[in-house]
Amino acid sequence: MKVSNRISQITAGGHDGWDVFYRARRMVSAGHTVTELTIGEHDTRTDISILRAMDHSARNGHTGYAMVPGTDQLRDMVAARTEAQTGVPTTRDNVLITPGGQSALFAAHMALCDPGDVGLYIDPYYATYPGTIRGVGAHARPVQAQAKHSFQPRAEDIEAAADGAVSLLINSPNNPTGVVYSHETLEAIAGACKRRDLWLISDEVYDTQVWEGEHISPRALSDMAERTLVVGSMSKSHAMTGSRCGWVIGPEEVIAHLINLATHTTYGVPGFIQDAACFALNAGPELEAGIAAPFRRRRALAMEILSKQNTITLVPAQGAMYLMLDIRATGLSGEDFANALLDNHAIAVMPGESFGRAAAGHIRVAMTVEDARFSQALQTLCDFAASQTKHSAAE
Ligand code: PMP
Repeated sequence: MKVSNRISQITAGGHDGWDVFYRARRMVSAGHTVTELTIGEHDTRTDISILRAMDHSARNGHTGYAMVPGTDQLRDMVAARTEAQTGVPTTRDNVLITPGGQSALFAAHMALCDPGDVGLYIDPYYATYPGTIRGVGAHARPVQAQAKHSFQPRAEDIEAAADGAVSLLINSPNNPTGVVYSHETLEAIAGACKRRDLWLISDEVYDTQVWEGEHISPRALSDMAERTLVVGSMSKSHAMTGSRCGWVIGPEEVIAHLINLATHTTYGVPGFIQDAACFALNAGPELEAGIAAPFRRRRALAMEILSKQNTITLVPAQGAMYLMLDIRATGLSGEDFANALLDNHAIAVMPGESFGRAAAGHIRVAMTVEDARFSQALQTLCDFAASQTKHSAAE
């Protein structure tokens, strides 16, 4: 029996760039020790205080259907947080609570793109982006942010790709590059969206992980709130990846449509999860800083190690839990480098090519193992890169 074209095209088939990741996982299952610097998940678990709040809520009966748009309390808290961040008046009617940021990304595209429309996204990109856009029946079209511009997207590249497009998906702090978009970049993106009449979908799930510069939400830029949907999540900021709690923030009319969508898809997020999210957001910036601290520390360790070599160039590591390393001096592709590093040193990193063409010749290192092991792995990676350079020079 045939399934819909729409669903079979989500992955577009073929090579998905995750071979190194799965190979590392198979090695671990077979009993090998592998240092996995691959996916974006904290090495700490959800804080016990958040789990207690979850337990308390569930035991007090918040286990039935919750309000589909989200509880009033959580929507109000997310609205207040956004208003404080952007200065744009925001109420619960601007907020839909979703089962995680991924579901919010899908809902946002569902609200904006008709089948056959083009949804733009910036390459390098988070793995699910093109599939999410194809999932709503739209064409996913990449716009390259170039290594030579430190992976900051440019208005002219967006506008050159904008024929037939209705939306542009951006992500800052960025996965996979670790770059934080500057005020100038965001103004340029906003200008391109206005000139080409595009909706902007701004994925801000890493907004609490900023090491350099400042996180600016494009919702704060003039005349952008009416054409921007912001995607947020508790996953990265509060180490609540498994709780599946995120949101979309946008104009009231769009949120009203998204509530209809939620009624016919997710039917909301469990009440005890939302209560735990309220507790976590209420716990304030110290809790968030504590969750971000290991990545901040490891970034500093990495910068120290990388400063002592000259084969690898670090893409400005301004935010998020990743480092993007330019390994083109070794003469290897990101994929060949990652495969050889896994074979020779049992260290798993993601090839840049897994995140799009713009990141070819790079590798992404997730800073998600404890400090000493992380430093040791990075040192080994640098030594390996240097040995490859000598090797290719000798050829
Ligand atoms: N956006 C980006 C850029 C991500 O890296 C992730 C998760 N890795 C997500 C969205 C989705 O996160 P979640 O669904 O857990 O909120």
